[in-house]
Amino acid sequence: MAETIDVAQNLADVRTRIRKACAQTGTGNPDCTIIAVSKLHGMARIRAALEAGHRDFGENRVQEAESKWPDLKTEFPDVCLHLVGPLQSNKVRRAVALFDVIHSVDRAKIARAIARAGDETGRRPRLFIQVNTGEEPQKAGVAPDDLDGLVALCRDDLDLPLVGLMCIPPADDDPALHFALLAKLARRTGLERLSMGMSADFEIAASMGADYVRIGTAIFGSRPAPTR
Ligand SMILES: *Cc1c(COP(=O)(O)O)cnc(C)c1O
Repeated sequence: MAETIDVAQNLADVRTRIRKACAQTGTGNPDCTIIAVSKLHGMARIRAALEAGHRDFGENRVQEAESKWPDLKTEFPDVCLHLVGPLQSNKVRRAVALFDVIHSVDRAKIARAIARAGDETGRRPRLFIQVNTGEEPQKAGVAPDDLDGLVALCRDDLDLPLVGLMCIPPADDDPALHFALLAKLARRTGLERLSMGMSADFEIAASMGADYVRIGTAIFGSRPAPTR
């Protein structure tokens, strides 16, 4: 039997927990944007969030997003769709056509492909560079040492709308260390926005200045297994 999930209540609870965490520390961003990460979830839960007035949603795969969002974006034109998963160069054009924000730029090849796709489609999604703050070999993201070069390429050479940095801390580290590093790197490179914090650590992220938290499970419940 399907788990009973009150999406509207969960969204309200997440906001309350963010406000509390920021009030307790006296820091951070109580009004940060909550990206409801709906990957692997079906229309019923997405619609429940839309009907509760929520408009920022995240997906991690281009193809899945294409099967769920084009009609919904027509029905709810103020939806802001965020790509939070890794991007392959052969999917860039489709990603640029559908998403309003891309959080996972992590190499020169992808940045160049986004610039080309932008010229072809006339679309300019806002961009985050994903930083592999834990320098984990299996994880996406640019190494901290290579960040400056990628920022310069995106911002100065390609004139892309680069707005900030994103990270996913290693599972068994204190996330605060990685959020602090991301904030420091953003200051150093003159980027304003931070995309950090998931269901397990969004209160810490918000109290450390996240502008976007990316939350799936705490809003939609546990994800069904992928069917592919
Ligand atoms: C799935 C995903 C999330 C949401 O994860 P939860 O732990 O369910 O909140 C956030 N960010 C990225 C990049 C994801 O892939």
